[in-house]
Amino acid sequence: RAKQTKHTRIGLYSEELIDNIAAFVSTENRIRRALKEHEFVPHYQPQVDMNSGRIVGAEALARWHSHDRGLISPAEFIPVAEETGLIDQLGRSILTQACAQILEWQRSGIRLPVSVNISGRQFAIPGFVDQVQDIIAGTGIDPAQLELEITEQVFLEDMDEATDKLWQLRDLGVSIAIDDFGIGYSSLSYLKRLPFNTLKIDRAFTRDICDDARDVAILRAILSLSRDLRLNTIIEGVETEAQKKLLLRLGCERAQGFLFHQPLPAAELTPLLVKR
Ligand code: C2E
Ligand code: MG
Ligand code: MG
Ligand code: MG
Repeated sequence: RAKQTKHTRIGLYSEELIDNIAAFVSTENRIRRALKEHEFVPHYQPQVDMNSGRIVGAEALARWHSHDRGLISPAEFIPVAEETGLIDQLGRSILTQACAQILEWQRSGIRLPVSVNISGRQFAIPGFVDQVQDIIAGTGIDPAQLELEITEQVFLEDMDEATDKLWQLRDLGVSIAIDDFGIGYSSLSYLKRLPFNTLKIDRAFTRDICDDARDVAILRAILSLSRDLRLNTIIEGVETEAQKKLLLRLGCERAQGFLFHQPLPAAELTPLLVKR
């Protein structure tokens, strides 16, 4: 009897495992096909100066326009792309498209810094710096208009090599932002050792800011640190007027959030930039 229960348990477990593997493999195959059919495109979420509402930058966020399933969010495909190594091709495609967009804006007299997310696995590819250099040279953009967003994931493997790469990227003239700051393992010593230009505070700190004095205390500390280290600071996830007011009182000016703008296709963002 005991044997039977055990067997059943293993049976259930295996079935679930097989389902998971099947779903994973099917997503992998669909990503492969989607890459061939150019179904991945960046949308752009404006970053604003909360004092004036003026758009001062934008973050490129990958979207999958699947012909059979509609618009798919990155939470569904970025992890699979990372796990399978397809993130190399996917990340390169998003970076190339973002640079082409920077150029198009540049040509119509619009200067807008754009930041692009780089996953840990993509950053670790030996030719990554060359890849970025080739894309910049190929499109002919002003590298000062490009910012790469990385997370602390990048330093978990080989800190010295990652530091080296960051300096090489800075030498190309691009900016570096540390994304999702404050969650995970991000350590304060990174801020001293690494050549960041921008610190993006994770939206985990914005969410409860109006109800939780501890979040205000943490935010105050991060803001003061970021200022003293002469970094640009961006706060993510601003959704309400109350949050905006409080953040402005704390001296936080640059923000990204649904209160201001959702991520938009380039064609919808351009008219907003022309109006600026
Ligand atoms: P992230 O880089 O931290 O991007 C910010 C995420 O917060 C975006 O989600 C954005 O839509 C969302 N967001 C912005 N304002 C608000 C707000 O006010 N409230 C809430 N609740 N959310 C807000 P998204 O586009 O779903 O992207 C999720 C994550 O996927 C990104 O987090 C990033 O880590 C990853 N990702 C997106 N595109 C790429 C890419 O091209 N390459 C890589 N490697 N990762 C990407
Ligand atoms: Mg980001
Ligand atoms: Mg972030
Ligand atoms: Mg995030």
